[in-house]
Amino acid sequence: MASEERTTPESTAAPSGPSERPARPPRRFGSRRKVCRFCADHIRGLDYKDIGRLRMYVSERGKIEPRRKTGACLRHQRLVATAVKRARHLALLPYTLQHVRQTGVFPTRG
Ligand SMILES: [Zn+2]
Repeated sequence: MASEERTTPESTAAPSGPSERPARPPRRFGSRRKVCRFCADHIRGLDYKDIGRLRMYVSERGKIEPRRKTGACLRHQRLVATAVKRARHLALLPYTLQHVRQTGVFPTRG
């Protein structure tokens, strides 16, 4: 598989069949549907004091992760955003990268 690295990009995109229209790439790892964690755990409300949970939805730079990354549904993503903002207000979560460095809430890389 790695021996033919230098082929044209078309051949890598569509390994078999006519390359008129690029077919959908086959799913290698099976369909891993992202499920909203809150829906899965049947959590209705979200507490701003629940930092351990909120932390998963905040990047290491202190930003709220987008839905496409978290996989949260719209309702819960809104709750997350509100809870994170409340937690920030109480200095439980950082606002900016500077705060991350000062407070050391997240282990900064490099
Ligand atoms: Zn949900």
